Amino acid sequence: MNAIVATKITRSMGATIGYFASGLVAIALCVWLCKVMARGTISTGIALMPGLVGLVLVGLAFVAAGTGACPACGAEVGGLSTTDNDGVHCEKCRAYLEGKNGELQKTDESRVAATPIFATSLPEKFGFPAVCCVCGAPETRREKVSLTTKDASSALTESTLGVSRTTKTSVEVPHCAQHKGGAMLAGTAPNTRIRFRSYPYLRAFCQQNGTTPG
Ligand SMILES: [Zn+2]
Ligand SMILES: [Zn+2]
Repeated sequence: MNAIVATKITRSMGATIGYFASGLVAIALCVWLCKVMARGTISTGIALMPGLVGLVLVGLAFVAAGTGACPACGAEVGGLSTTDNDGVHCEKCRAYLEGKNGELQKTDESRVAATPIFATSLPEKFGFPAVCCVCGAPETRREKVSLTTKDASSALTESTLGVSRTTKTSVEVPHCAQHKGGAMLAGTAPNTRIRFRSYPYLRAFCQQNGTTPG
């Protein structure tokens, strides 16, 4: 029998205080900027920006300041919600973790999630295991998934010339007749990442292409 080992997530005081304090600093900066520079629409917009960052940081103090021991290897996993987590990844042993109500356990190795949450990097040269990326049945068709990202270096040309360079990445992912939407692309070229709904398919992809999960 394989017992489900779950660990408890605790609130990290260090992370909570860290997020909260930097949030307050950003909000204070916003208040100060509003006083000294907000005269027109643009300057008010700029002056308000640190305030938004500050609110996000204060929010993170509440929702992402959990920490827990990886149930697989015992390493500390940070940035957790203190309540429900899914698709969380242990940096040390590369296991996927999930859990509800402040508990953390290893994701079932055969799990197929409702959305693509199991990720890895997309190498320049790669191949897909020739089975449905959702259920593992023989593939009957390929589904095209694309990602268009703005090149980081184009920000300047965009503001000066009004044009931006984009990179479009497309891949054709094997599916069976019953399934669709089993994969998606994320990230920014050239650091493109691919996500699958199926944990077994992610592991097969990683093994075939020499990438690591997470
Ligand atoms: Zn681990
Ligand atoms: Zn299928």
